[in-house]
Amino acid sequence: MKLPFSDITPLDKSVPGVQAIEALILPRLSILYAKRAERLRGLNAQAHGEVGYLEFLAHLVDAQAALLANNPLTAQQAIPVSALLGDGATKPERPSMAVLQTIAYWQEAFKFFVQTLSPLLPENSSEKLRDLAQAEPSVLAEQASQLLARNYSAVDAGVSVVLWAALSSCWAQAVALAIGQDLKAGSAESHGANCPCCGAPAAGGLVLTGDREGLRYLQCSLCETRWHKVRATCTTCHGTQNIDYWTFEKTDSPIQIETCGDCHSYLKIFRQDRDPHLDVLADDLMSQGLDELLEEQGFVRSGINPFSFPA
Ligand SMILES: [Zn+2]
Ligand SMILES: [Zn+2]
Repeated sequence: MKLPFSDITPLDKSVPGVQAIEALILPRLSILYAKRAERLRGLNAQAHGEVGYLEFLAHLVDAQAALLANNPLTAQQAIPVSALLGDGATKPERPSMAVLQTIAYWQEAFKFFVQTLSPLLPENSSEKLRDLAQAEPSVLAEQASQLLARNYSAVDAGVSVVLWAALSSCWAQAVALAIGQDLKAGSAESHGANCPCCGAPAAGGLVLTGDREGLRYLQCSLCETRWHKVRATCTTCHGTQNIDYWTFEKTDSPIQIETCGDCHSYLKIFRQDRDPHLDVLADDLMSQGLDELLEEQGFVRSGINPFSFPA
């Protein structure tokens, strides 16, 4: 099957005049997953034999796609998640452990992912995942709660990636349902570098191409929503005076890092106007040398990549 050019829906050309910049852009989730899996496999092929992790991630994204196709979140199941989402007037809320425990969808998603992926993993990694999949909901909720509270070191690194994918599948569908039904306004304002819908950190920035050429959006690490942010403005402190751009060698590189000299945060930016195939999560993994370089200079990443949590 040939995938569309982008998971972002093209603008409606039948609307006359200049269209306003959308505050939020929701992905077409099935296309996002298909393109991300394809990108991971493509990068894996280029990596010449360092098989393993990228291929594993491609299978994880396939499992997210299968869940979406065969067992999508229902409007009823979305209610407890929708209640936590931000709408511009109210900030999004992080779910408490008690709430996480009552939302069965992400827990079932985690069990499905573990069942699907276990055979691909070395025994010790697979055992950790299977142990957690069989644990009480309270144990699962406690681990998820640590990740959402950004205590990444409290969860085993191999478990985190699968657990986050399960939470993400649930939150991404809940946001799509809420905005689709207009339960929450589509004009949510971002709070710092965090997602205006769910409050999770950004995974990175995108400069779009096509009919939104040059516009910058941040992409949520949890619900996959993109929210608009004016370029050359720090996403953490909103400073504009000391913004710098860094790349490896070429100045027209499709991946660059934006640093802020005021608050010393940095954000990785994926220029789809230079390479439309870039996927924030997949391509971030292939450019981590750039992170090391900036971290040596004292900058701190403002977001996270859920394929590679900070230790
Ligand atoms: Zn979000
Ligand atoms: Zn700043």
